[in-house]
Amino acid sequence: MPSVLIIEDEPAIRQQLVGHLSDAGFDVDAAGTGMAGIERYTGTDWDVIILDLGLPDIEGADVLKMIRGLGDTPVIVATAQDDERTTVALLNAGADDYVTKPFSAQHLEARIRALLRRVGDDAAPERITVGGIEVDTAAKEAYLDGERLDLTLKEYELLAYLCGRPGTMVSKRELLAEVWRQPYGGADKTVDVHLSWLRRKLGESAAEPRYIHTRRGAGVRLDDPTAS
Ligand code: CA
Repeated sequence: MPSVLIIEDEPAIRQQLVGHLSDAGFDVDAAGTGMAGIERYTGTDWDVIILDLGLPDIEGADVLKMIRGLGDTPVIVATAQDDERTTVALLNAGADDYVTKPFSAQHLEARIRALLRRVGDDAAPERITVGGIEVDTAAKEAYLDGERLDLTLKEYELLAYLCGRPGTMVSKRELLAEVWRQPYGGADKTVDVHLSWLRRKLGESAAEPRYIHTRRGAGVRLDDPTAS
């Protein structure tokens, strides 16, 4: 049962979220101020934190900094305005996702579940095999035909993400959001460069692809070349 800590000062919203998430099977606790939230946070090993930015005592952004100073529990920030600059700053400051008010408890629940899948706390398989590639998500290692690949963390994450969706075209935007945690995009080049490194390590090229297939304007797809 994933545990969720909600830091939100508006009683009506807090009660609604606690009620819905409890019914949905989460182990939920809530705090009404930033200070109370930090205290609650330090006592327990939470799976996710929902952090309202407009708190009466401490700026939500500062609460986020304190949480990040203490650990790496995933944080979803709830913001009142759809202010792109603020959101980007928060994501860069270590928030894992955000929701814009007003949001429904159902929407938040979906975002929490997606985040838990992403961080691998939702009983994700520990080994993914696509053709000769094997990804060990527990050890964050990947193998090609039994040989360990010497990958950087980002190359590993990129490969693991693609191996989790074999045969599916994945857009660069999705990769930037899911692998690089930049939902507003950034340089497409980042993805291109990592794909080209990954390709080289898999012993293939854009001209002669085996696993990694890119299509301009559409994205990238990882195929099993051993499947007929
Ligand atoms: Ca508030």
